Amino acid sequence: MATDYYELLGVRPGAPVEEIKRSYRRLARQLHPDANPDDPGAEARFKAVAQAYEVLSDPDKRRRYDAYGPDGVNGGGRGDPANGFGDIFEAFFGGGGPFGGGGGRGGQGGPPRGSDLEVVAELDFEVAVFGGEQPVSVRTAEACPDCLATGAAPGTAPRACPDCGGSGQVRRVRQSLLGQVVTAGRCARCGGFGQIIERPCPTCSGEGRRIIEKSYTVDVPAGVDTGATLRLPGRGAVGVRGGGTGDLYVHVKVRAHARFERRGTDLVHTLHVPMTQAALGAHLPFETLDGGEDLVLPGGTRTGRTFRLRGRGVPHLEGRGRGDLLVEVVVDTPDELSREEEELIRRLAELRGEAVAPPDHGFLGRIRSAFK
Ligand code: ZN
Repeated sequence: MATDYYELLGVRPGAPVEEIKRSYRRLARQLHPDANPDDPGAEARFKAVAQAYEVLSDPDKRRRYDAYGPDGVNGGGRGDPANGFGDIFEAFFGGGGPFGGGGGRGGQGGPPRGSDLEVVAELDFEVAVFGGEQPVSVRTAEACPDCLATGAAPGTAPRACPDCGGSGQVRRVRQSLLGQVVTAGRCARCGGFGQIIERPCPTCSGEGRRIIEKSYTVDVPAGVDTGATLRLPGRGAVGVRGGGTGDLYVHVKVRAHARFERRGTDLVHTLHVPMTQAALGAHLPFETLDGGEDLVLPGGTRTGRTFRLRGRGVPHLEGRGRGDLLVEVVVDTPDELSREEEELIRRLAELRGEAVAPPDHGFLGRIRSAFK
């Protein structure tokens, strides 16, 4: 079955919410289990469509989904026993509903999955361009080693909750406009865990986990840039009492480079060249991020001229190849001339018939200082 929420609802990404609403209503009527008593797949499709709609109709969840995919919206809420259940799903499926199922136990209650964590990693420019390993440190939760995540004091064990029989859920029958409706909700006695702890583990006070500072090594793909987010599945916090582990989201921030700037997948370098080289041309050795190049500066080069070294830029994050390296020229005008240098340039001006200021250093000096 398609897992892309837009695909499930038959709309294009970016579709307005009215269109999503219309599409969902149509699909919900089509796929409703009551309308498809002989199609066992209809219920699953109906649930999937409802879940897609729940996310895409909520602007905040939709943003998270667009940015992170399904885990961006399911992570925090998945299996949270405090979530409550949507009435319509209770009515038709009698279970925890497609959103409320306990993490790690097939939607039948049990301990909730731990939360997703976020951390910002500051990468060196070269690591972002060529990829590499980046250590990150995060405050997280790991299973309590003394009770092995059960939350029960060593030597004791949790026992099944007598009220819900270990399922974490209790069923109620009530009357509604649709007739008799069976609803299921979180068991109040065990809080949805399905188990009761008589003597809590003293190390973790029965939580089954402890807070620690943990380090991970992130594999940085070549070509990432500031604003990218890398997901490390299962590297988030462990849930309470043996609940599943959340994910870790690493937000990338790239440090500036002394010589290069990123422009998409191109690298840009501003090259200052003296007037003489710009006028007469030169062969200039040039260090790229990965090796030397011989840059041929033709005579008559002006400020603003850009030379493109193909394939010496940033690797494409997806797909092959690399961007280019752009060398943007700035021609520097010489100042603080020696007497001989000044005479040469005056001679040049004379040959070209260009009027220049007279050699009154005192006067020019005053002008310069007035404009500084
Ligand atoms: Zn413990």
